[in-house]
Amino acid sequence: MGAKYSLVVPIYNEEENIAELYRRLSDMANSLDGEAEFILINDGSRDRSLVILRELHQKDGRVCYLSLARNFGHQIAVTAGLNFARGEAIVVMDADLQDPPELIPEMVDRWQQGYQVVYAQRTQRRKENWLKRLLAFGFYRVLRHLADVEIPTDTGDFCLMDRQVVAVLNAMPERNRYIRGLRAWTGFHQTAILFERDPRYAGKEKYTFGKSLALAINGLVSFSKVPLRLATYLGLAAAAISLLMAVLVLYWRFFAPNSPLTGFAAITVVVFFLGAVQLICIGILGEYIGRIYEEVKGRPLYTLSEVGGFPQR
Ligand code: UDP
Ligand code: MG
Repeated sequence: MGAKYSLVVPIYNEEENIAELYRRLSDMANSLDGEAEFILINDGSRDRSLVILRELHQKDGRVCYLSLARNFGHQIAVTAGLNFARGEAIVVMDADLQDPPELIPEMVDRWQQGYQVVYAQRTQRRKENWLKRLLAFGFYRVLRHLADVEIPTDTGDFCLMDRQVVAVLNAMPERNRYIRGLRAWTGFHQTAILFERDPRYAGKEKYTFGKSLALAINGLVSFSKVPLRLATYLGLAAAAISLLMAVLVLYWRFFAPNSPLTGFAAITVVVFFLGAVQLICIGILGEYIGRIYEEVKGRPLYTLSEVGGFPQR
């Protein structure tokens, strides 16, 4: 008999967390009303994570694993897990136990009430660096204003999705995957449950500042065209300012020929300013064009070097 629940967990250098993760998942899964499969995705870890996954798979038939041939990043690792999940309800969560498995039965309840997406919304992030919290707070609010679909604030990838929703995600060919956005995009009946995000169980954060920033930019660019319009607005603003300047220059020429605001310094500032604005606009264009390029190449999303518990594909 197939599993009713799939628990998808991406793993990147989490050797200190896997045993505890397995213990808590297993305790939780025993209380569910159906069989569960644990899909652990090794995202090119350099530590002993894969060895531990193999051992768990030997020990417990519910544990299946996928090993990506290199580090493809969190979103792609989750995507791989979703591709292979066979359950009727699929849960995505982090391996570091920041997403408490004990919340899953509550998600399952909601699912059984008829919701097809149950996402966990953070009320607090304990012990996370204040700068990260501040940036995340700001980012989710900017995104909410700019995005074409309503992406709920303060939600990560921790969620339960119905088979039907996962089928839609799996059918999406895009390479730049901002899963929490794509999930919102699918529509369906969605609901939130609130939770306090625990600190990491062990080990260091795998999302470096650079990776978090890349994810944020990806979210923005994938779900909004407003940044593109920025160039138009900046151009209009620059045109208005230059008109004003022209008037001022005429005024100075005739009425205040000794004004300190005329001359070389003023010109340099203006030239640098406009240069900067143009470079920023080109950069924004580049973000979109780069993504078009990525999509057009049509490479597979990931390569697998090893699987355990799935029929070979
Ligand atoms: N992760 C991954 N590939 C990466 C980076 C992270 O699979 O390149 C996994 C990591 O093992 C963890 C989850 O993604 O299970 C979230 O990572 P982390 O805890 O560093 O992120 P944060 O909690 O800061 O969002
Ligand atoms: Mg974490």
